[in-house]
Amino acid sequence: MIKKAIAVMTSGGDSPGMNAAARAVVRTAISEGVQVYGIYNGYKGMIDDDIHELTSRSVSDIIQRGGTFLGTARSMEFKTPEGRQKGFQNLQKHNIEGLVIIGGDGSLTGGSLLSKETGVPIVGIPGTIDNDVWGTDYTIGCDTAANTIVDAINKLRDTASAHRRIMIVEVMGHTSGWLAVMSGIAGGAEYVLIPEVKFDIPDMCRELKEAYDNGKRYSIIVVAEGAGSGIEIGKQVEELTKIDTRVSVLGHIQRGGSPSVEDRMKASMLGEKAALAIISGASDVVFGFNEGKVVSINLFDAVNNTKTLNPELIRLARVLA
Ligand code: ATP
Repeated sequence: MIKKAIAVMTSGGDSPGMNAAARAVVRTAISEGVQVYGIYNGYKGMIDDDIHELTSRSVSDIIQRGGTFLGTARSMEFKTPEGRQKGFQNLQKHNIEGLVIIGGDGSLTGGSLLSKETGVPIVGIPGTIDNDVWGTDYTIGCDTAANTIVDAINKLRDTASAHRRIMIVEVMGHTSGWLAVMSGIAGGAEYVLIPEVKFDIPDMCRELKEAYDNGKRYSIIVVAEGAGSGIEIGKQVEELTKIDTRVSVLGHIQRGGSPSVEDRMKASMLGEKAALAIISGASDVVFGFNEGKVVSINLFDAVNNTKTLNPELIRLARVLA
């Protein structure tokens, strides 16, 4: 069942590569002869009827940009059935027959409820720097964010080494330590503290002190925000080791920047798949990657399961520290 009009939106936290995904959805649909609407500012825009037709040119000059040209927002109203009904009525007003949602766990949960309650076909693309969507090894933006963190670690390592300091780097990840572990391994961190694994600060400080007594010049400790405040951990570490300690909270810098080649490529591949699927009548699926290949995941499975961090990565981070 080929559709006449579909819509694409981005929702939740922005992530680099969302633009490449939306661009691929728009250009694929147009090349299939299907009209495409952009829903601006996430579910808030769906409720407020901030919905506009897109052309191939609407998505020119965006593949290299971070953020999302469609804008994104958090909408409390969409969490209510009444809010979702309002959004659905606006989709009907524009004769939109299917929707591609690019976003994280929360956005896909919202989409699954919209689909269940109204029957509107939904196809999801996982877009979040946290890489925490179940069923896929990869979410759009995680690679660029990890590269941004590693770049910061490289710089911090230079200055830490010059002053014989301990450097604590707080990174994003409330419930998932994926970014911390990946950037810890790639950045050569001594310790990675994540919400998934218990850690003992006095033990870590004893090891650090011993290493510095034996001539070590610097240490990098990556802390996922969900594991504790970098600033508080820094105070504790300095108190227990008596070694000069500095803390860098990377914050929103991790979300921005021009997307990496990997994020542009994978987002483009997922965008094309999602557009072809929704046009040909699919619903309630999320496209992701598994072992390098595009896979489709049931939308309800994706939102009802919690992705766990690969224990092999946690082990590797420890071995190489
Ligand atoms: P990120 O993980 O990058 O922050 P996300 O998509 O998980 O992205 P959320 O803020 O959790 O970000 O969700 C984005 C929006 O999706 C919310 O503002 C809300 O409108 C909708 N949403 C989230 N959870 C639900 C839910 N349980 N029911 C309905 N809508 C939801």
